[in-house]
Amino acid sequence: MSDQIDDVVVVGGGDSGLLAALALKKMNTGLDVSVIDDFEEDVPQVGKSTFLAIQHILHEDLGIDERAFVSAVKPVWKASVYFRDWCGYPPFHYPFDQNRKFPNPNERDTNEGYHYYYDELHNSTDHQSKCEEMVSQGKSPWYFSPREGGTRKYDNVAYHLNTERFNTFLRDLCLDRDIGLIDDEVVTVDVANDRIQRLRGRNGAYEADLYVDATGFSRVLKREQSDEFHEFDLPLDSALNARSDLSLDEVVPATVIDTGDHGWFWQIDTFDNRDRGYVYASEYVSEAAAREEFVDHCDGIAAEDVVKYEFTSGYHERAWVENCVAIGNAEGFVEPLQSTGLTANAKASVTLATLLSGHGRVADDAVRERYNGWVSRSWEAIYDFISVHYAYADGGTEFWRDVQDIELSPRTEMLIEHFDRHGFDTHVDPAIHSEHDDLLFFRARHFYALMRNMGATSEFYETHDFELSDAVRRAVDQHYGAIEDDVADHYDHREYYHGVLGQH
Ligand SMILES: Cc1cc2nc3c(=O)[nH]c(=O)nc-3n(C[C@H](O)[C@H](O)[C@H](O)COP(=O)(O)OP(=O)(O)OC[C@H]3O[C@@H](n4cnc5c(N)ncnc54)[C@H](O)[C@@H]3O)c2cc1C
Repeated sequence: MSDQIDDVVVVGGGDSGLLAALALKKMNTGLDVSVIDDFEEDVPQVGKSTFLAIQHILHEDLGIDERAFVSAVKPVWKASVYFRDWCGYPPFHYPFDQNRKFPNPNERDTNEGYHYYYDELHNSTDHQSKCEEMVSQGKSPWYFSPREGGTRKYDNVAYHLNTERFNTFLRDLCLDRDIGLIDDEVVTVDVANDRIQRLRGRNGAYEADLYVDATGFSRVLKREQSDEFHEFDLPLDSALNARSDLSLDEVVPATVIDTGDHGWFWQIDTFDNRDRGYVYASEYVSEAAAREEFVDHCDGIAAEDVVKYEFTSGYHERAWVENCVAIGNAEGFVEPLQSTGLTANAKASVTLATLLSGHGRVADDAVRERYNGWVSRSWEAIYDFISVHYAYADGGTEFWRDVQDIELSPRTEMLIEHFDRHGFDTHVDPAIHSEHDDLLFFRARHFYALMRNMGATSEFYETHDFELSDAVRRAVDQHYGAIEDDVADHYDHREYYHGVLGQH
């Protein structure tokens, strides 16, 4: 049996399936790729908020023209995750320019050591990073700079997407790039010893060298294979979702998070809608009570428009078994907090495609093991990132009390200990970072900022006094004052879409 892969059938035309098809085709010249989906069905509404790396993945790795994308999909630029209310802590951001706020020690400039004064400086809206300032001022990352040659963008941003427009754009791009879109539903999967022999749909039968299961939580191909599903220790398993109309003037360029009694609420603004959600743990509250709490929390949402989603938190330990690789929700999911899903799935597609191309399109056990190892580490890193939010979440209900005991990995424990001993110092033990360099969601200083915002103390700060000298204060004030002025000159979303792009 040859391990050479000449053709791929992707089952599922949600964003994961389409992105996988685009990545496989782009990085493997001559590969025949098609996607099967019941394309008449509505696209799921969730999956709107993305993470920083999405821009690089879409516009660099997949070579999607940014201007064409913006014109068609009309994204809102997301500058941060804004924890407006997280278990009663003062509001704080998880901005996408954390790296500038907590620079690498080797790159420190006049702000040297400024994070010793974290409590004094960072809890004040006078000292906001550019992303935080964009959220406060309701601005887009776009500005006009004759010196830089015209309209420019501050790059540390992600997208809020309208899922219908995004999906339509990806479908059109697939057709442009010679990827077949087959309108069908797979109803039977013929399997022998974990190897898929063929797929049978309502309209035909399909055979390929490699099958990609991108069927979301229904896992139509993957469930026919023997494989362990690793469940995470997270009680959240349900979400309510609804949207209302929004004018461009009202856009908040951040995913906004509030605490609920049995989970948390999101607010994600897109070009024409405000999308709201309530992620909750069903073992603590009935659906009816959760619906009531959700509708009470949100203005302008009618109870009959609320849609329910369910999910399991975990992943398949071997994403790729024999001739079938699962991607997207079919492979795994942690939970919606911090909006890691779409970006992580897109990154997985690029990783799969480059791995295949790097091996001359030969898929043997070694290639599969390598990919599966990366996927597992990726999910574990996302879990680590999410778990820290709950470990410090000091809420007042049974759900919030229980979730604080969430299982932490040895890596996360090590980071917490490191912060206790060294504070924000970013000379992290290389053992923590080296195996995570190729992952998206594991950066020590980002964890520290998050933890500090949720009241984490550090023995280092408790036992030493730091005097904020006038010189440092002046430098810091000057630095952040310039940022505030700078952002004031950015376009807001209406100015950018109407004025610069001429779109309405
Ligand atoms: C409540 C909730 C909120 C979320 N919020 C976010 C967020 O803000 N940001 C984020 O990045 N991620 C979010 N996610 C994750 C998000 O769902 C994924 O990132 C991603 O959008 C899912 O894409 P998918 O293509 O894997 O699955 P899906 O979008 O479910 O697509 C699966 C596709 O497979 C097709 N299909 C299924 N069965 C068959 C069959 N038998 N034959 C043919 N086709 C079939 C379906 O028609 C569908 O088109 C959220 C998830 C949940 C549950």
